[in-house]
Amino acid sequence: MNIATLPTVSSDNLRDAILNHLAYSFGKTPEAAQTEDWRMALSFAIRDRMVEAWFAATRRTYEAGAKRVYYLSMEFLIGRLLEDGIVNLRLADQARAALTDLGLDYDAVLADEPDAALGNGGLGRLAACFLESLSTLSCPAMGYGIRYEHGLFRQSFQGGRQVESPETWLLQRHAWEFERPEARYRIGFGGEVREDRGRSVWTPSEQVDAEAFDTPIAGWQGKWVNTLRLWSAKAVAPFDLDSFNRGDFAAAAAPEALARTISRVLYPDDTTEQGKELRLKQEFFFTAAALRDILRRFDSEYDDLSQLPAKVAIQLNDTHPAIAGPELVRLLHDERGLPFDRAMEIAQGCLNYTNHTLLPEALESWHEGVFGKLLPRHLQIVDRIDDAHGKAHPSRSFSMRADSQVKMGELSFVMANRVNGVSALHTGLMKETVFAELHALHPDKIVNETNGVTPRRWLLSCNPRLSNLVTDTIGDGWVDDLERLKELESHVDDAGWRDRFAAAKRDNKADLSNWLAETQGVSVDPEAMFDIQIKRMHEYKRQHLNILEAIAHWQEIKDDPNAGWTPRIKIFAGKAAPGYFFAKDIIRLINDVARVVNADTATRDKLQVAFLPNYNVTLAERLIPAADLSEQISTAGKEASGTGNMKFALNGAPTVGTLDGANVEIREHVGADNFFLFGMTAPEVTERRMLDGHARAAIEADPRLARALDAIRDGTFSPDDPDRYAGIIENLAGHDYFLVCSDFTDYWRAQREVDAAYADPARWAGMAALNTARSGWFSSDRTIRGYMSDIWGAASL
Ligand SMILES: *Cc1c(COP(=O)(O)O)cnc(C)c1O
Repeated sequence: MNIATLPTVSSDNLRDAILNHLAYSFGKTPEAAQTEDWRMALSFAIRDRMVEAWFAATRRTYEAGAKRVYYLSMEFLIGRLLEDGIVNLRLADQARAALTDLGLDYDAVLADEPDAALGNGGLGRLAACFLESLSTLSCPAMGYGIRYEHGLFRQSFQGGRQVESPETWLLQRHAWEFERPEARYRIGFGGEVREDRGRSVWTPSEQVDAEAFDTPIAGWQGKWVNTLRLWSAKAVAPFDLDSFNRGDFAAAAAPEALARTISRVLYPDDTTEQGKELRLKQEFFFTAAALRDILRRFDSEYDDLSQLPAKVAIQLNDTHPAIAGPELVRLLHDERGLPFDRAMEIAQGCLNYTNHTLLPEALESWHEGVFGKLLPRHLQIVDRIDDAHGKAHPSRSFSMRADSQVKMGELSFVMANRVNGVSALHTGLMKETVFAELHALHPDKIVNETNGVTPRRWLLSCNPRLSNLVTDTIGDGWVDDLERLKELESHVDDAGWRDRFAAAKRDNKADLSNWLAETQGVSVDPEAMFDIQIKRMHEYKRQHLNILEAIAHWQEIKDDPNAGWTPRIKIFAGKAAPGYFFAKDIIRLINDVARVVNADTATRDKLQVAFLPNYNVTLAERLIPAADLSEQISTAGKEASGTGNMKFALNGAPTVGTLDGANVEIREHVGADNFFLFGMTAPEVTERRMLDGHARAAIEADPRLARALDAIRDGTFSPDDPDRYAGIIENLAGHDYFLVCSDFTDYWRAQREVDAAYADPARWAGMAALNTARSGWFSSDRTIRGYMSDIWGAASL
């Protein structure tokens, strides 16, 4: 089959395929079928259409002897896959018609799919966008990660407080994976290392099997399909028969329970090092399985290991898979007998590392006690790598083994061929701060690849009204060539076209407002400005700056309710790590403020606040198309890139934001006139922080800020417990590390500019439309092209 031409599929074909799967795969008649059965049958019918191209892609890769890209990531925040598959195969009309024909509600069937939240936030979502772009660009690639039984916890609120419960995506049937019992590797931990005739032999004391589950990832038009291979931990022996026969059933089941623990839950924190043995086990588990799989595939085609860097590019998504460095050296040296230096050189030719954070508390390191206990041979290898690097660079002043730690950032840097940051600002700061010395020793190693998002999910599929308008205006070439959105610019001055753009947004807002009323009990006027901040809860992301401004604004409206205020609803969503108490207090504060402000009859037609529970990909897809204003207000220098910022701009929501991460590049692209800038720059932040009493000074200088803080302090939002937010007040008025107070006044100013701009609908529609027209550069296709040429040396087939 020529993979460039897929067979056309009519809605009748699809309906028959669905009915066949319903009967033969699920054993149901249409009368007995539940929504879940229909969802599974539709998913199988769609999946069938991917399989030919999947086989063909593998065949083509072998025939071409092509270099393969392997993307190793602890997290893949893939979300729902059915609509993505339907849209990429261009079967949306047929699928809707087929289900309607069967008397079903298409949207309800799609909504039955659980959201696969196998990641925390931006880092995991980036990995998911990258997989889709790799397929769209027909680059031979594979994602490797962990098949967590439980993804990121489910969030609900009790009395405004975050409550966590386990996520259970696998309790429903999952349509997309193929179990591969034959792709199974034994992974060891612990034990000891012996020297045997000059060779080091590691004998682990504990072993589990890693078993592969493959999910096909189809690119745009379904022409190329790559694989996401997730590893599930299985006991080496299913149960202990001796214990069972003795009647000790708990002990009999213990090996299985122990093994399964490894792939049971996603660690719910992407920014603080947990220091947990289990986390290190998870990291080694999936990385070691991936490397064995990569070498097995290489061995099936080639017999000269020196060819490895020419055929294999491995990307480490943050330091979580950093153990790939020593493990690959171990496989090549201990197991394949290459000299140590040669093994190290080959590994360095294959590996690359993406840095995602400069936050010192998030830079991964392990105490040598834990590390050496779980991975005794790897600790020796890290020491040898460190020695070799030290000998090659005698002037260096650091060690990746300082303070009894194993420093995963330094290890990753040294073992990588290329190291990349994720926005221009972040890459620059990497060179000046965390990796300054390593950068001086290896000046060509660091490159920048600014993040991107896939336009298939983040415009075409999530925002049909806007994407239809775009396609009506410029044709559908933009879907895999997003810079063509520029062609919209010439229409922005046409009032008729601008009205159509504004109408798409208004209808999206009306949909959201109905959904809010039906599911959240929140009633909002769709004409109000939808001001949205959705992302993980973190002090550096400064949701508290946003709520402080809301309080101050509420107070000002109360003073003069009829002063022509621009009506707004401030929408928040985001999860806090379960152990991050300050972030949880911010959630509670926002919920408390929402309760009081929304109940104020004098102001509620001007200002409302809502915190929506359980932020995930599906909620993002619902909210972003309806956003007027994108809140990207992190302390400058702290957000490595952000990708939420790109999704909003692409969907026609101008940003109020700081010069941080990719905001800088977004502003350059959309134009300073279409971006509400405020706040200190990264160097100003560093300088201000050294100024004694900066928070006090800021509060004294701005009566609005002082009054907002007073309202929190005097219990306006927590009358039954006035001291509830003493911690937040103390933090803000005290050392205020994230400079909320110092940036407040300028944030307030920018928000009033937003109000004025929004009050002029033609002006606002023009700004919004220019955000869409000029966001094409933020496609993850552009990012992946950059990785392919600057980092991997990989080609599209
Ligand atoms: C895009 C996305 C993120 C990243 O958002 P930032 O604003 O860049 O932090 C996190 N979570 C989900 C569900 C997303 O879709």
